[in-house]
Amino acid sequence: MCNRPPRRRSAVTGRCDHCDWTAITSSYSQMVKFYQDHIRANHPRVWLRV
Ligand SMILES: [Zn+2]
Repeated sequence: MCNRPPRRRSAVTGRCDHCDWTAITSSYSQMVKFYQDHIRANHPRVWLRV
């Protein structure tokens, strides 16, 4: 439990509510874009609802 990577400033961690997908980006807006791309590619049904 002491093996965690050093925390970078302004790093944004995102994860998917529908699978185990996680991502780290440098800004929140980039994370939103990443997440939307993931949803659209992997959960088209969810994407259509959003
Ligand atoms: Zn997902």
